[in-house]
Order: sequence, then C-alpha cells, then structure tokens
Amino acid sequence: MNTNATIKARVFCIANQKGGVGKTTTAINLAAGLVQLKQRVLLIDLDPQGNSTMGSGIDKSALAHNLYQVLISEATIAEVVVASPTGGYDVLPSNRELSGAEIDLVGMDARELQLRYALAKVELHYDFVLIDCPPTLSLLTLNGLAAAHGVIIPMQCEYFALEGLSDLVNTIKRVHRNINPELSLIGLLRVMYDPRVTLQQQVSAQLETHFGDKVFKTVVPRNVRLAEAPSHGMPGVVYDPGSRGAQAYIAFGAEVIERVRAIKT
Ligand code: ADP
Ligand code: MG
Repeated sequence: MNTNATIKARVFCIANQKGGVGKTTTAINLAAGLVQLKQRVLLIDLDPQGNSTMGSGIDKSALAHNLYQVLISEATIAEVVVASPTGGYDVLPSNRELSGAEIDLVGMDARELQLRYALAKVELHYDFVLIDCPPTLSLLTLNGLAAAHGVIIPMQCEYFALEGLSDLVNTIKRVHRNINPELSLIGLLRVMYDPRVTLQQQVSAQLETHFGDKVFKTVVPRNVRLAEAPSHGMPGVVYDPGSRGAQAYIAFGAEVIERVRAIKT
C-alpha cells in the first residue's frame, strides 16, 4: 500500500478505436492484477456498453448514479464510485445513459476536460486510475485522453492492426499538442496471442521493430478462462488465478509498475 498521501495517481487510458481487441479485458485484469500487487486502483468505465462495470461484478442496470452524472457535474466521483466486490478496486460505473453525455457535453465550456476536473478531486486516493475507453475517437474518449498521463494500447497481432495503430498514435500526438501536454504512449500490449499462427509471429516482430521499447514484454495469450470470467462478474485474474491468461495479466501489472517507476526517475 502506498502510504504517501501526497503521491498522485498515475492515470492511464486503455484505448484502441477498434472494438473487440481486448480493451475491457485488459482494463479489468490490469486493475485486479495491480490490486494483488498492493496498489489502490480506480477503474473508470468510459464505454456506455458498461462491460467493465459488469465484468467487475456490478449490475449496470441497478446503478443509482453513473459516470454520466459526473461528466455533466451533477455528481462527484465520491458519490458515484462503487467497490468491485470481486476485484478489490473501485469502479466508476457506466451504462447506456452515458451515451447521452456525448450530446450534453457539446454545449458545455471545456467539454473535453470534464473528466479531468472531476479526477483532480480524488487523485490522491489512488495509485492508479485506469480508463476503459469506448471503441471510437469520440468526445468521451477525448475526455479520457485529456485526463490521462498515458495510453496503453492492447492489440491483436493481425494484419490490419498496424494500420489502425497509426491513426491512434496520431490522435495521441494531437491531444498531446493541443489539450494535454502530459499525455504519452506508455506502451503496446499484445493480447489474444497465439504463437502457432505465423502471421501473428510476424506482426509481433514488426511491432518490436517499429516501436522498440514501447512494446510491453508481457504477451497475453488467447485463453478461454479470460473470456469466461466476465459472465461470473469477475476479473480473470480472480476467477482462475492459475490460468495462463491470469498469470500474464499479473506479470503485466508488475511491468506497468516498473515502467511507471522508470518514467518518474
Ligand atoms: P474490447 O473492450 O476492446 O471491445 P474485450 O476485452 O471486450 O474487447 O474483448 C473482446 C472479446 O474477446 C471478449 O469476448 C473477451 O472475453 C475476449 N477476450 C479478450 N481477451 C482475450 C484473451 N486473451 N483470450 C481469450 N479471449 C479474450
Ligand atoms: Mg470494451
């Protein structure tokens, strides 16, 4: 446990504008993995689908409040936050109501900074804040990027993955230049990896060539236990700690902590 109350949380977006690439699985399991490594974690569900809310064991249809009210300044994070009964981290939950925020925010001043303002009030309470982004480069995602220190990009080693990556890297650069000079690419995480597939080996090697140190050493394998866990409202790391997928995400948590230390010093 970090007992130094003056250290502010590191805020990371888990982002990729493609759907189904493992963002939510990474957000939930990194959160639970960091908890097992004695970190205080807040997981923000920035996707109106509410998958990381449900996957953390919280019923998205039974929420008194959700992230929507925080973004439009009708509630504070402290009023909305829920503890994940299975993961041991806090969650800012979401459901379909959040999609309305896209429209409501447009008319507001500093519409891309609402999450950042809200987070400023709780950043001393956590070591890590993880933001599970929707699969779009929308105003919601912009709020995530504006509030973050860094971006973690989960990706599958497929042919078109590299193409989509350049769009996202350019977006990160633009946000860095125009809105949030603190924002940087923390790293690329290879997920759903199957080493028997030659194309995946090739794309993985290409990633290392192009992005060097920005590619995390941990590789998350394709593992059915990770896919089963959300239907039990649990992170895979908790559902089956001995599985290869869980082990990979624990290792990833350790690598993220190490990388943060390297950036700070
Ligand atoms: P996203 O949030 O980017 O849309 P998800 O994390 O929801 O992606 O993952 C998409 C699907 O792939 C889900 O059904 C999830 O359970 C499954 N999945 C994610 N990572 C793995 C993995 N490493 N092994 C097997 N299935 C996975
Ligand atoms: Mg998702």
